Amino acid sequence: MKYDYLIVGAGLYGAVFAYEAKKKGKSVLVIDKRNHVAGNIYTKNIEGINVHQYGAHIFHTSDKKIWDYVNQFAEFNHYINSPIAIYKSELYNLPFNMNTFSKMWNIRTPWQAKEIIEKQISELAITEPKNLEEQALSLAGKDVYEKLIKGYTEKQWGRNCRELPAFIIKRLPFRYTYDNNYFNDRFQGIPIGGYTGIVEKMLEGIPVLTNIDYGEFRKKNPDTAERILFTGMIDSYFDYRLGALEYRSVRFETEVLDCDNYQGNAVVNYTEREIPYTRIIEHKHFEFGHQPKTVISREYSSEWKVGMEPYYPVNDEKNNALFAKYQELAENEKHVIFGGRLGNYKYYDMDKVITAALETAEKEL
Ligand code: UDP
Repeated sequence: MKYDYLIVGAGLYGAVFAYEAKKKGKSVLVIDKRNHVAGNIYTKNIEGINVHQYGAHIFHTSDKKIWDYVNQFAEFNHYINSPIAIYKSELYNLPFNMNTFSKMWNIRTPWQAKEIIEKQISELAITEPKNLEEQALSLAGKDVYEKLIKGYTEKQWGRNCRELPAFIIKRLPFRYTYDNNYFNDRFQGIPIGGYTGIVEKMLEGIPVLTNIDYGEFRKKNPDTAERILFTGMIDSYFDYRLGALEYRSVRFETEVLDCDNYQGNAVVNYTEREIPYTRIIEHKHFEFGHQPKTVISREYSSEWKVGMEPYYPVNDEKNNALFAKYQELAENEKHVIFGGRLGNYKYYDMDKVITAALETAEKEL
């Protein structure tokens, strides 16, 4: 065995683990099938703008330990995510807050908003929300659900809101104050200079091979390492032998535009069904850029198929049950650890990825 650890996937999870392992004196080899490191947090400089190539990533956490940890690898700016939602000809602030409600009903005070929402909720008589639709309706009432949630969610997940788990919508704050901050977390920002630098710093001094498919690699190099950290799709590791888990993929249409400010905000969501993309990201606004040009990405959500990039695990009952079966198989692979959004089949945010990777490192090392 040449290494203590082979890490499959140079994304955030793999990089944190690699960094910790090296710190403990372990020898590590990292491989990735893409031609670059950083997985889905990869950013690429185009026209002086750090473009989030695999979708917008905004770092946020309430955990001081994780915030301090990530700040070792980059300095963060003071970006606060405050998306705009466009529904037909109407424009609203997100997340759901007094700015949204005052625009929707031409009201001003929290009690006016509460009165309207509570009336809408009481007409529905939902006692225990069983799915995303019921959860959203019982939280925000009919108007907010129909204009800002239903279309967007069904586009993003390709499923009816009644077939989706309630927890997805619980990610979004709902408040009766004039606060457009999308997150409730204490710490938030974008790493100055982009995310790729964070992962590069974590991997400093560690051999990394890109353009390497693990399936091919293991055939040719069965004895590379004592232990393996696999951060790819858990079902692919087992050659889909129990069936394929479902994922959502995203296609990005990225354009460089000859104007300095296209939409005035980093994130604009299109919440109606009829517009085929879910949102437009204008990357420069994550870093308050003043470049003469701008780069925008339209996001089109689709069902994942072999050959596409998987982004979101579909954590409904059916898929969670299948994942549990794969976990049983995984337990027999004594020398392999499964981790990350794909290995753990979990809708993780970046801070949770770091937490999980540090916990694994703690146990393992
Ligand atoms: N969501 C919504 N309307 C919006 C934005 C989000 O209904 O304008 C819901 C939708 O169900 C989505 C979930 O909130 O799947 C989580 O959205 P978030 O922006 O957190 O997703 P991510 O940034 O991870 O893609």
